Amino acid sequence: MSSVVEHDDGAPRHPLDVVVVGSANADLVVQVERHPAPAPGETVLGSDLAVHPGGKGANQAVAAARLGARVALLGRVGADGHGRLLRESLERDGVDLGHLHDTPAASGIAMIAVGPQGDNSIIVAPGANARLTEGDVLNAAPLLRSAPVVSLQMEIPLPAVLAAARLARRAVLNLSPAVPVPDELLALCDPLVVNEHEATLLLGAPREPRKPREPREPDRQAKELLALGPRSVVITLGAEGAVVAEDGAVHTVPSPSVAAVDTTGAGDAFTGALAWRLAAGEPLVEAAAFAARVGAAAVRRAGAQDSYPTMAEVEDL
Ligand code: ADP
Repeated sequence: MSSVVEHDDGAPRHPLDVVVVGSANADLVVQVERHPAPAPGETVLGSDLAVHPGGKGANQAVAAARLGARVALLGRVGADGHGRLLRESLERDGVDLGHLHDTPAASGIAMIAVGPQGDNSIIVAPGANARLTEGDVLNAAPLLRSAPVVSLQMEIPLPAVLAAARLARRAVLNLSPAVPVPDELLALCDPLVVNEHEATLLLGAPREPRKPREPREPDRQAKELLALGPRSVVITLGAEGAVVAEDGAVHTVPSPSVAAVDTTGAGDAFTGALAWRLAAGEPLVEAAAFAARVGAAAVRRAGAQDSYPTMAEVEDL
């Protein structure tokens, strides 16, 4: 197992760019001709099972590490086959696993049924991810404080996310899945990262239809999210790139146009890349422009982690 050599105070001897605190899941993928009927009781037969390393935390860590970032993942996996698969894929990309704890629970899994149009239905069993505690995060305080950026998502318990955000020099939070969070957490985000769907869930539906002269929806939503308290906001817009809101101004960041094959994990690739560029000291708008290129590169291949680009591939776009 790779592990950062640490000083007596627990801080790593070799500096890290990003510490990801988050989930690792085995993605169990079955192709189906159609999804089972909404009412319980139906069985449909599907394709052979494919098992891929995933989970938003592990995806972010692999995305950043493959680009060249020095990354550690703080999280929990089970001491089982899925846990080994997850560790192996993280190790291949050089992610430090000194704070990825083996846990007496099954590794997290996502059961993913993919329909003929690429339409997904997903059931997540968090398993070991749900056992990540505030204490785990506090025990790693020197590690978290040592990195310029701590990158977070919501597939682990809220107390762990909040503890990590409090310790972080700069917290990047992908609020996915979009669950209610306390104002204190929002206020620590720099930036808060969501996709359009999550932005709408967080803000609720607009009270009145938009009038023609009003700003376009993503710009309005970015400003409204900023008003909830985060220091900055990024809304990712799929093929359209992203909008960035900070200091009251909204900037549009385009995405290169590519032939999209599979958008699974694009948001995680975006956030991992964003965290790395912010750790390198780039301004948010420039970091988001780079992250949009990484997201675009990632949708050109199937899978999540399997699809993430190297730096050379991003430069070729
Ligand atoms: P999520 O995966 O969280 O739903 P998005 O679909 O918004 O997030 O994708 C994240 C980023 O990936 C986008 O900001 C964009 O840069 C890139 N991306 C996603 N889909 C496409 C696409 N079809 N073409 C080009 N870039 C894309």
